[in-house]
Amino acid sequence: SPVMASEKEAALAATPFDSPTIFDKIISKEIPSTVVYEDDKVLAFRDITPQGPIHILLIPKVRDGLTGLSKAEERHIDILGRLLYTAKLVAKQEGLDEGFRIVINDGPQGCQSVYHIHVHLIGGRQMNWPPG
Ligand code: 5GP
Repeated sequence: SPVMASEKEAALAATPFDSPTIFDKIISKEIPSTVVYEDDKVLAFRDITPQGPIHILLIPKVRDGLTGLSKAEERHIDILGRLLYTAKLVAKQEGLDEGFRIVINDGPQGCQSVYHIHVHLIGGRQMNWPPG
């Protein structure tokens, strides 16, 4: 497939539906990734296009309809909390004691490109505000 010119292009080309994504193959280890944390519910691995010295994605191992945050239902409250709590554990593990950024992109305008919910943990440099 052609190389995407930008994350935004990838996001606008993505299919915002409940169909399999590349993250299923990362969970099954069919596609290799650098895993930094794993338990029965959550997988955390390094982003292939890091936006900082540390850039980790945290995902639920079972998507259960949670393609993005905008699709969250009450049954997802536990996993949503677990993803954020695990992000804190991984931030500590990665030595991000001076701070970090958590991002959840949602939908085309939010620049979401993979429709399996994921929390970005980015750190190791000074962040700016507002984001782009
Ligand atoms: P989104 O744009 O949907 O918020 O984030 C998707 C993220 O997944 C992007 O930051 C992108 O770099 C990352 N990504 C896409 N494909 C792969 C892959 O095959 N391996 C890894 N490690 N990250 C990926």
